[in-house]
Amino acid sequence: MPDIYCEGCGVKIQTEDETALGYAPPGALRNEPVVCRRCFRLKNYNEVQSVPITGDDFLKMLSRIAEVDALVVYLVDIFDFSGSWVPGLQRFVGENPVLLVGNKKDLLPKSTNANKLKSWIWRSAKELGLKPVDVLLMSAEKNHGIDEVKRSMEFYRDGRDVYIVGSTNVGKSTFINHLIQETVGGSGVITTSRFPGTTLDFIGVPLDDGCTLYDTPGVVNLRQMVHFVDVEDYRQVMPNREIKPKVFQLNENQTLFLAGMARVDYLGPGRRSLIVYASNALVIHRTKLENADDLFKRQYGHLLAPPGRRDQLPVLKRFDYRTGELNTDIVFSGLGWVTVKGRGARLSAFVPEGIGVTVRSSII
Ligand code: GDP
Repeated sequence: MPDIYCEGCGVKIQTEDETALGYAPPGALRNEPVVCRRCFRLKNYNEVQSVPITGDDFLKMLSRIAEVDALVVYLVDIFDFSGSWVPGLQRFVGENPVLLVGNKKDLLPKSTNANKLKSWIWRSAKELGLKPVDVLLMSAEKNHGIDEVKRSMEFYRDGRDVYIVGSTNVGKSTFINHLIQETVGGSGVITTSRFPGTTLDFIGVPLDDGCTLYDTPGVVNLRQMVHFVDVEDYRQVMPNREIKPKVFQLNENQTLFLAGMARVDYLGPGRRSLIVYASNALVIHRTKLENADDLFKRQYGHLLAPPGRRDQLPVLKRFDYRTGELNTDIVFSGLGWVTVKGRGARLSAFVPEGIGVTVRSSII
């Protein structure tokens, strides 16, 4: 096939990989002009599709944002916080204010204390070198909290353009499609504009005062839980509705496995409750600490599934904790968290290398 380029965004057309950039179904090559599926959907349905971008192009793109005067709206997945975090964002967007939005809050139990969650996000952002102007929570899919995000966007942009940035899979397209429907409806005009230095267009949604809201490509973040499991397995790992807590009374030296993805050893002192917040479909298995290593070797991919289709047993990295505060959450990015009741518990948490583990005071 000779090289063909998309009339819409200029990307090289390919017909093999539906998930990759520049995909067009083979039949579309007969059309004049040829456009990639992303541009086709945008033109015909006013719908933005997620596009992945690699680290280098993403950084180039971000540093272009530093050259304009704009508000940056930065979306993270509150369920995969450290996995969806973009390191160094503050440096790349320069002096521009960053509004930090935690998406997918519909997955958290109703009893979640939003203020505690927000202060954890503030604290984590600060530790990771970002000083946002504000932290908000929303569910783009369930349309919760979007109005507040919109009001804050209006307030902080103060007549400037807005750039929406984030990793892939955080819900950026879902959010922007919602805004498109509200702003221009099904038949309005969406502009695209080439951003020099990257292979991709930005998609611009017109705002009331002549400014533009830009969707930027999402960076593929290899630390996201979504990259550690098969696509079908991911559906089990990632909750798709409000999670229901599972309570376990553990004796000293007992272990909980969260499928084959994570492990918590409770060392003591005394008997105590551990509450697991994860996908309702995720298998939680309790065993004695002395049997845990052996069980993992024998049951990985069987009783402890997913993931089940990997030939090689993953190496789990260990983190040791002694909880100080009354109730503490051990958070496994992308998977959920385990609340440890009471003070002064000794535990070890195990996860595959690359998955983030953090500790916070309980948000429930
Ligand atoms: P993008 O790659 O950042 O553009 O993300 P998408 O908008 O394509 O969303 C990625 C996945 O997350 C999809 O399966 C969405 O259905 C899901 N998703 C997006 N927003 C939410 C939300 O607020 N809550 C939940 N539970 N899922 C969401």
